[in-house]
Amino acid sequence: MNLLGIYEQMGLGKQVYERGEAVLERLADRFRAIDRTAEANQAKVLLAMQKNRIGANHFAATTGYGYDDDGRERLEKVYADVFHTEAALVRPQITCGTHALTVALSANLLPGDELLSPVGLPYDTLQEVIGIRPSPCSLAEYGVSYRQAGLRPGGTFDYEAIRAAITPKTKLVTIQRSKGYATRPSFSVGQIGELIDFCKRVKPDVICMVDNCYGEFVDVVEPSDVGADMVVGSLIKNPGGGLAPIGGYICGTKTCVDRCAYRLSAPGLGQEVGANLGLLPAFYQGFFLAPAVTAGALKGAIFAANLYEGLGFRCIPGGSEARSDIIQAVELGSEAAMCAFCAGIQAAAPVDSFAAPVPGDMPGYDSQVIMAAGTFVQGSSIELSADGPIRPPYAVYFQGGLTWHHAKLGILLSLQKMVDRGLAEL
Ligand SMILES: *Cc1c(COP(=O)(O)O)cnc(C)c1O
Repeated sequence: MNLLGIYEQMGLGKQVYERGEAVLERLADRFRAIDRTAEANQAKVLLAMQKNRIGANHFAATTGYGYDDDGRERLEKVYADVFHTEAALVRPQITCGTHALTVALSANLLPGDELLSPVGLPYDTLQEVIGIRPSPCSLAEYGVSYRQAGLRPGGTFDYEAIRAAITPKTKLVTIQRSKGYATRPSFSVGQIGELIDFCKRVKPDVICMVDNCYGEFVDVVEPSDVGADMVVGSLIKNPGGGLAPIGGYICGTKTCVDRCAYRLSAPGLGQEVGANLGLLPAFYQGFFLAPAVTAGALKGAIFAANLYEGLGFRCIPGGSEARSDIIQAVELGSEAAMCAFCAGIQAAAPVDSFAAPVPGDMPGYDSQVIMAAGTFVQGSSIELSADGPIRPPYAVYFQGGLTWHHAKLGILLSLQKMVDRGLAEL
């Protein structure tokens, strides 16, 4: 049976398929560049695993306190080597990206300190962590104040506003690499380096933390290569390679990471405790696969941007723009179009392909959210997924795909649903 025959059984028509093929023909050079980045990152991960002499004995499960867990300690050394940092905390006890960021912030900010975001409003869930939206146990409740400098039109840094916002109280600067649910551009590692340089020139002892969610392995350098004191992310995004079923990481200076470990477990205990519960094979193998998985997701994002841009939809980043993360925003203009797009992504899934996504309330988000995700790991957004808050400009944020071919099919089916419902014309 031919490929189109199989696709037709999944509801994908010839016209949409051929539209996709025409778009793909123009993307060969972009895809080659992505493969070269993946090759460099693969080498970086392999070297770190070899240097730390990872052996099959390091995959053993530990339970209880998890004392003397050599596999856990070496995994953290592997992460530290790949991110070129002094230390790393990589744990299943970190439940998600928001938790990792919360640990990093609350460990390094004390009452009376001030937190600064020089890149505008942070990711939705961080707003309650900080207390921008009042919430029990927020940093604000513990006496940590917050300031923000917005971006200039076009999404560039407002250096004068940032200089004015740095005061003697400013202890930590949080820089979000990815746009999250905003329609600003994501920042390149180079841009983040310039911003860190600027902040450290104004206040040399300020701690610079980067929310690296969705950015890992997109470039051959990471924010920790350009001066970040901490880089933080989720293992059910890029660095987990789709295999990690839970977890987060914080890589950075020993001083910062030690404090994170004391905050995560308890003062005095720190990094010495924390059983791995049998998850190390998934963590190691996922990290090993992560450069290739990230490359597949990037190809999907670029394909989606070029396909949808050609149909008149605004895409962020644009089809020919450089990438700093794996997220692709497509402004669809209506709730109905968001639902159709998500229905297509869901229909392409290996798991729960029969489900129909509908908008609903989500903890941590202040508008209704629609999510399409037929994932092996619940909520994993390195797996093919699409989501977005139901509010203007009705943008869906599309990301992931453990394989490029799955990402491609999902994007084509999203367009097919839009065409079927009269919401897009070829
Ligand atoms: C996903 C994400 C987070 C939060 O991660 P969760 O794992 O969903 O808690 C924080 N910041 C950014 C930019 C993200 O993309």
